[in-house]
Amino acid sequence: MVKIHNFGAGPAKLPEEVYEILKQELSNFEGTGISLLETSHRTPAYAKLNKDVQDVVRKLLNVPNNYKILFLSGGGQGQFAAVPLNLISRTGSADYVVTGAWSAKAAKEAKKYGKVNMVLPPTDRYVEIPDQSTWKLDPNASYVHICTNETIHGIEFDFIPDTKGVPLVADMSSNFMSKKIDVSKFGVIYGGAQKNIGTAGVALVIVREDLLNQALPICPSILDWTVNAKADSILNTPPMFAIQVMGRVLQWIERHGGLDAMAELAIKKSSLIYEVIENSNGFYNAPVAKKDRSKMNIPFRIGSLNGDEVLEKEFLKGAEALGLIQLKGHRDVGGIRASTYNAVTVEEVQSLVSYMKDFHKKHA
Ligand code: PMP
Repeated sequence: MVKIHNFGAGPAKLPEEVYEILKQELSNFEGTGISLLETSHRTPAYAKLNKDVQDVVRKLLNVPNNYKILFLSGGGQGQFAAVPLNLISRTGSADYVVTGAWSAKAAKEAKKYGKVNMVLPPTDRYVEIPDQSTWKLDPNASYVHICTNETIHGIEFDFIPDTKGVPLVADMSSNFMSKKIDVSKFGVIYGGAQKNIGTAGVALVIVREDLLNQALPICPSILDWTVNAKADSILNTPPMFAIQVMGRVLQWIERHGGLDAMAELAIKKSSLIYEVIENSNGFYNAPVAKKDRSKMNIPFRIGSLNGDEVLEKEFLKGAEALGLIQLKGHRDVGGIRASTYNAVTVEEVQSLVSYMKDFHKKHA
């Protein structure tokens, strides 16, 4: 069988080393003689894991002591509801910076719980982050929400917006732990784990303590950050295996040079692909403005800016034959999307790049 190189956007490739550890732990978790899958979450074994994973999150991101680290069910979209439910009560309204499909979805969910101010003019073609000087921020907003990496549109923030003291809330589902960030500039950071830091089923939430204790009375306990912080993320049975996987992935990052090493690799891998696109005389087209191009998800079209679907189909078929899989663009935008999360190696990206060059030559 041909060797598989997985460029999927999520659930995405996990490091091979992590699978080796998980295989062993699956039948005997940390010397307990049983799997974590059949262990109570109210045991010393799970308490240790809960602490170990919080510790590695705190260490990698240098999370200040006045932030709680929570592991919650419901993935990224669970937090689309949790954010307004926990934060919008202060003024009843919130600012949403919509730069792609995921922040649009977050804003739509928030409207159920309060007033949502759209900071940017509406568009159906997300290709850049408008300059901050044009943003219409409301000084009375309870918080400002951004998505730091739009997984579908391939748009990534390489700056932290200045929200003039209003708490900044960020969905980092698809670029969590891909680079160092200054956590103290954020009120809340959250994300589903199944892209860069683990598997589906758990959301990692990092929340500044002064933002607790203001949930709306209708907030379900399961989404209430204050209740979950008090319970140390074992209010109910947490997605323990997903938390175990996340812990092992984060420890893998730590062993492999931490976030500086991941950031360097992300630049290297994404540049390899963007360079082929840029040097293809318009055969490959990346729609996103250069300044905002994601280092995690690289959407592109073949043949023209709107894409030649016949060529794109042929590209995907040829790629699969070589083991280069999950490259199909999201159904909302079509085309091709290569995701270059932490676990994807430079060698794998080189295989893709070499296929892209061959495919171009064949159709030049
Ligand atoms: N935010 C972003 C940026 C995402 O990419 C995704 C998932 N693709 C989500 C939120 C939703 O995550 P989940 O499927 O875990 O609800």
